[in-house]
Amino acid sequence: MPGKKQSSKDSVMKDIPQSTPAPRYSGIATFMRMPLVQDPSGIDIALIGVPYDGAVEGRPGARHGPREIRNMSSMIRTIHHSTRINPYKLCNIADMGDVPFTNVYRAEEVHNDIMNYYQKVHEAGVVPLSAGGDHSISLPILRVLGKETPAGLIHIDAHTDTNDTEMGFKFSHGTSFRRAVEEGTLDANRTVQIGIRGAQNSEESWDFSKESGMRVIFMEEFTALGVNGVIDQVRLVVGDGPTYISFDIDGLDPAFAPGTGTPEIGGMTTVEAQTLLRGLRGLNLIGADVVEVAPPFDPSGNTALVAATIMFEILCLLAESIALQKK
Ligand code: MN
Ligand code: MN
Repeated sequence: MPGKKQSSKDSVMKDIPQSTPAPRYSGIATFMRMPLVQDPSGIDIALIGVPYDGAVEGRPGARHGPREIRNMSSMIRTIHHSTRINPYKLCNIADMGDVPFTNVYRAEEVHNDIMNYYQKVHEAGVVPLSAGGDHSISLPILRVLGKETPAGLIHIDAHTDTNDTEMGFKFSHGTSFRRAVEEGTLDANRTVQIGIRGAQNSEESWDFSKESGMRVIFMEEFTALGVNGVIDQVRLVVGDGPTYISFDIDGLDPAFAPGTGTPEIGGMTTVEAQTLLRGLRGLNLIGADVVEVAPPFDPSGNTALVAATIMFEILCLLAESIALQKK
């Protein structure tokens, strides 16, 4: 696979603005200022927008997430200050644009569109890093990435998203990971949910997570263990099997990320989340998403900046993971 990609690597790489003379506020905004491509061949990591929020039970707005994250991602430079990883030196990375939808008024059709799109990306041997969109988008992505081997999951969120239904609907943003377990694309025993908190009207989602075998780290345990203790737990749960990262921005405290549909106070700081992610180097990562950024609730634009920065943290992890597998 690396050999196949080498041929087209140079043609994409030459567009990367690593020392570009162009100011970062100029030009058309793409994720991390990467070249916009249609064809996944020759790419190692695709940055993909999934602008859909038709499956929220409360406040919509995450459909506007990808565009604002792209805008704020122009602030992100190339070399990680702590790990010194430069993902663009390790991998061929491009923005593949947004998933096209045939009918945004029907959630199941949107989910099918997402599945078909990621199937093509996956068949090209490309690892996707996506920006949502509401959390329902993770289900069709897992249908592709967890098809052959059920995926392990590192899930950062205030909510477990393991309800059976929300207002009678089985494919809402609060049901994704229960459906994925039922559909056999997610390995509950290799799933860890981190940062869980906030009142619910029923205990069923918390109970499902626990009873299905997921490791659930409520915010109180997160505080008691400390970030390094949580990292140890995560590594214990996911091991070296194929693992997906799903980062719901509401896992963070709304002091840091207010622009989201279902904010819950008492969450992680941005530093805690960054430290947690940096503790995940060397895992077998197959993809990731950052979801639930709702710009209408984000007047300062800071939530989109936080999301772009979290995407960069994850991009460094993915690039290093792919580089290690190539060796
Ligand atoms: Mn969620
Ligand atoms: Mn959430």
